[in-house]
Amino acid sequence: MISVKEAKSIIQGKIFKLDSEVVPLDKSRGRILFEDIVAKFPSPRFNNSAMDGFAVRSSDTIGASKENPITLNNIGISSAGVPSDLILNEGDCIQCMTGAKIPSGSDAVIMVEDTDGFSDNDNVKVMIEAQPGKHIREKGEEINKGDILISKRTRITASEIGICATFGYGELNVSKKPKIAIFGTGNELVEPGNSIKEGEIYNSNLYVFSDLVGNAGGEVLMQDVLKDNKAYLKSFLSEALESCDVVISSGGVSMGRFDYVRDVFIELGVKEHFWKVAQKPGRPLFFGTGNKTLIFGLPGNPVSSYIGFMVWVWPILNEMMGTDTLKSIEGELTEPFPVENIKYRYLFGKAWIQNGKVFCKPSRKIGSHMLTSSLDANCVLGAEPSDKKLNPGDSILVNLLPWRTIE
Ligand code: AMP
Ligand code: MG
Repeated sequence: MISVKEAKSIIQGKIFKLDSEVVPLDKSRGRILFEDIVAKFPSPRFNNSAMDGFAVRSSDTIGASKENPITLNNIGISSAGVPSDLILNEGDCIQCMTGAKIPSGSDAVIMVEDTDGFSDNDNVKVMIEAQPGKHIREKGEEINKGDILISKRTRITASEIGICATFGYGELNVSKKPKIAIFGTGNELVEPGNSIKEGEIYNSNLYVFSDLVGNAGGEVLMQDVLKDNKAYLKSFLSEALESCDVVISSGGVSMGRFDYVRDVFIELGVKEHFWKVAQKPGRPLFFGTGNKTLIFGLPGNPVSSYIGFMVWVWPILNEMMGTDTLKSIEGELTEPFPVENIKYRYLFGKAWIQNGKVFCKPSRKIGSHMLTSSLDANCVLGAEPSDKKLNPGDSILVNLLPWRTIE
């Protein structure tokens, strides 16, 4: 049995980075950028109007008010997409819509609401004095040409997609998705939706894995529930080792009579780097490598599987794609935490912010078969082995579940 720290450092030495691929912008959600996104032009790209109104020479509007409007002559229209090439001379104005290019000679825009009379003829009564620059979005005021808009390694969300579209990127160079095989083992497992007999249980782990893989940005290529039978395991695994970057199993790696997974890994030439880790839950954690595949054998208890995925697999999938791992912060316990003497202890927990400080508490249900402990959780709490108890007021590591919020 090795420590969590040793196990992490062994895995670090085996991680490989995935190549990149070019994908259309609308298919880039959740992907990790492989290059900086640079502004190909300033934003705004040209001086344009922030309002529907009239482009004017501000000097022509000095003294204008509701009581004493100044009349200007409208000489044309500049609309979004159809700029006017007319030049304003003294006493002129040009009707100018939101987003339209500011015509030459003009240095301000008067809102329609501050004008009168235009619908009758070309005379526009201006009822307000315009300051130079008023209602004009200036070229480059937001972004200069050449600015880095989004750094590489960023995960693409709506904001990034919006910015890439704004700056004309129709496709993006992103990390390939890790190709994943997930499998569960156990003669007792039945798929949800089917009837169940005495002694059987529903397979939940693969549903959790499948969601987590997608959430982490990976792609499940192979998925199956296998009987505790060496032949089935062998055939699934030999294909997975050929076609996948990561193989993740649940169950069958403990000390039970039918726990064949580790044997089969080894028979297929997988190099075992460790098998047992000083952690609770999930001591019989297997980690090995094939020619080009990382293999994680997680124990079958649903909480061990879920927490095991988050602590051991999630960060690795992210690193393979070149992005950050799980976010960890310190929190102050409001309830005791059951520290173990020689094992690192993980539990689902709830963290929240009060007066700018992070507080947290572990789930009340602590059994590794009690998956309902994950329902309210927004984090996995983790404590180093120690003979000292952790009590309310003590601080603890809070690994935030990325898809949950902390309030
Ligand atoms: P094992 O690691 O195979 O000894 O399994 C430990 C416990 O987890 C047993 O109670 C199994 O029935 C349960 N288990 C194994 N695989 C799954 C699964 N896919 N979904 C839910 N429970 C499972
Ligand atoms: Mg089993």
